[in-house]
Order: sequence, then structure tokens, then C-alpha cells
Amino acid sequence: MLQQTQVATVIDYYNRWMQVTAPYRVLCPQAAPFGELVHCLWQIPSGRAQLCLSLTCLFASVPQKWPTLQALAQASLEVVSELAGRMPRTAEDLQKLLPGVGRYTAGAIASISYGQATGVVDGNVIRVLCRLRCIGADSSSPAVIDQLWDMANVLVDKSRPGDFNQALMELGATVCVPKAPLCGECPVKQHCQAWRRVEKELAFTSQKLFGNPPKVPDVEDCGVGDCPLCPPATEPWDSSLGVTNFPRKAAKKPPRAMRTATCVLERRGCHGAPEYLIVQRPSSGLLAGLWEFPSLPLAQDLQKEREREELADHLQAWMGRPVAAKGLRFIGEVIHIFSHIHQTYVVYSLPLDGDVTLDPALSPSRWVTENEFHASAVSTAMKKVLKVHEKQRRQESSPVKGSKRKRGAKAQGAGSTCPGTQLSLHAFLRAPTAP
Ligand code: SF4
Repeated sequence: MLQQTQVATVIDYYNRWMQVTAPYRVLCPQAAPFGELVHCLWQIPSGRAQLCLSLTCLFASVPQKWPTLQALAQASLEVVSELAGRMPRTAEDLQKLLPGVGRYTAGAIASISYGQATGVVDGNVIRVLCRLRCIGADSSSPAVIDQLWDMANVLVDKSRPGDFNQALMELGATVCVPKAPLCGECPVKQHCQAWRRVEKELAFTSQKLFGNPPKVPDVEDCGVGDCPLCPPATEPWDSSLGVTNFPRKAAKKPPRAMRTATCVLERRGCHGAPEYLIVQRPSSGLLAGLWEFPSLPLAQDLQKEREREELADHLQAWMGRPVAAKGLRFIGEVIHIFSHIHQTYVVYSLPLDGDVTLDPALSPSRWVTENEFHASAVSTAMKKVLKVHEKQRRQESSPVKGSKRKRGAKAQGAGSTCPGTQLSLHAFLRAPTAP
């Protein structure tokens, strides 16, 4: 969990996890590593169900962490089924044998849990090391990343690697913070080249006042031409930034614009409450494994009517029955910004009568009530989509809004006999009656 966010955010989820697994931990009090805990759970008759329940609780609460938890569960099963319950104990084996375990996770587990003298490099360590060594090239470039791992492996304390790594990460999280680092209180400032550079500049400025300025070595002087670790010549040291000149990142690419048509398919449940159809996304890629309303990525600059037709074709192929484009009701647009994608969901709705048989060869799907929808692993964007849909429904059922409708306004969709109401799929497909 701590790989994903900060301690303060994780505490609540961690407590919940500990609560859910409490009955089983008493049976295996020494089981600190997760793999061993899972192994214990597995050996209890109801353990498998409880494990699934525990993970489901976490998935439902933190859907955005789904891929990580999926990988965690998969790795745990691997430990139980393939490795006879024994966790690999070196960074190399952890990375090689467990799916989803990357270089950082492997280094952290091996050094903290098993005392292997191996370094770790996370965002905090990148910042500290780049400042310690005035590394000013793009900190996400392969040359810099390789160099940082080499440094971390050399620096790590051989007798207490876990403590050393945690201390280094903590230094970045609490002292060598991104903005306004506390250099005056820093325990490693004597070794820090960025701090020395700032000190020398201060000394230069004060001595200049007395007419005898010393020469300030330039950080670019260490690189000969195209050093892969030095700041690029186009972005030299900026005195006003001090140590926060480091680390540097390549300019961010602007997010890619994407449009996706999505359809809220709705029916009346057995108690009259609305139910919605959701489908599961593929197990890899963006929002892997999450549930969503049936959706279709659209080409940019597609005409509105074409968008609607393409969505109708998509639903038709999926449901195995005709879906007329005119039956899809446009509700609005929802914007959601992912780190690298500016996503626009073009939201439609389609009320359905009765059940719909979906092609089982396609994505898994299910009908859910509103509460079940919110308890499912759905993305924030889909929650926004449902909100827009509900807002629209409220507006339609509001008598005030309803009275504003112009007299004689045309009904939406062919064959409607009740202006302003949504057509059911059956009503829409019915042959038009003679006027
Ligand atoms: Fe970071 Fe300042 Fe410490 Fe250098 S002296 S490591 S810049 S806090």
C-alpha cells in the first residue's frame, strides 16, 4: 500500500485490512510477511473464502489500487502453490519468481524483511541522491536511473540494509522534501553537493560585498560536453532555486485527448428500483479489470450522429438484437483527467424492458442496483457518469422543470406517444403505428 501513497492515506486501509484478517492472524502470530499470512489462511478450511473476501473489501474500497492488489494476490498464490509457501528471499528471486514484483518492491522486501544488502530507489530516494550528487539530467532517463541504482547499492549499509533503506526514504519524505527542503537540519548535508553549491554561492555573494570574490565552480564544469548525468546546457543551474534545481524531469507531454461513448443501460429490478448493466474491462491496460457501463472508444472529430450510430452498432453486436441509434438518448459529457489522458465520456442512456441476453463470449457483465454499483470496483469516471444520468432523471421527474417544456415540443425518438419520456427498447423497436 505504501508504494501507492503516503502513510497518512494508507492508515485507514491498513487498519481495515488488519481488522478483516484479525481472526486468522491469531492462528499464525509470527506470520509477518504477507505470503506467509496467505499461506496460513489457505490452510484453514474457510480460509480461501475469507482471503477472497478480504481482498474484495480492499478492492471495493480502493478500486484504483486494483492492479496492484491483483498482482499482490497473484504473487501470494504463486508463493503458496508453486513455492510451497516459502517467500523468495533475495531481490533477484523476488523479481524473477513473483508476478508484479518490480525492482523497488523486490529491493524493499529483500532488505527490510530478509536483511539482504541491496539498495532501493523510489521517488524520495531519487530526490535525495540527485541532490547529493547534483545529478541534473532528466531523472527518469535510463542513464540516470541506472546510476541511481548503482549508487543505492553501493551506499546501503551492509549490516543494517533494511534500516538504512527506510532511513533514506524517510529522509526524502520528511527533510529533503520537494519544495523547501530542511537543509539546515539535514544529517547528510556535509556530503551534499547541491547544498555545498548553495553555500559557496552565499559565500561568494557575501565576499563580493568586500571586493574579493572567490571563484564559484560551475556544476556544468564537471560534465564534458554530453555527460548523461549533468544538467543540459539549455537548463543551467538556477541560483534562485537552490538545491531544488534537482532532481529534474523531462517536460511533461500534454495529455492525449480521447473520446469514449458510454451507455447507461437501465431496467426496472424486481422491486421497481432501477438496475444498471456493467461490464468488466480487460485484465490489462488502462483501468484493468474495473467495471464500467458499456463503452466504445471513438475516433476524434467524429460527427455527433456518427458517434451515436457507432455506439448503437456496438451495443447491437453485444446484445444480439437490433439497437436503433435514435433510441439512444444523449445525456451529456463527462470529462475525466487521467495522468496522461484527457478523457471525454459522451454519455447516452437506454432503458430496457425485461432481461437482455448478452454474448457470453464477450466481457463479463452483470446487473447492479445503485448501491451495488457503488460497492463494485468501478472507476471514479463511471461514478461521474452515473451522477450525470441521475441528475438528468431528477430533472425530468421534477414538475417545475417539466412545466418549462415548450408546448408542442417534439417527442424524442420515433414512435413516441408521450412527449419527453424515454422510450424503452421494446417501444422503440415496435413498428410505428399509423397516425
Ligand atoms: Fe537534501 Fe538539503 Fe540534505 Fe542535500 S542538504 S540532502 S538538498 S535536505
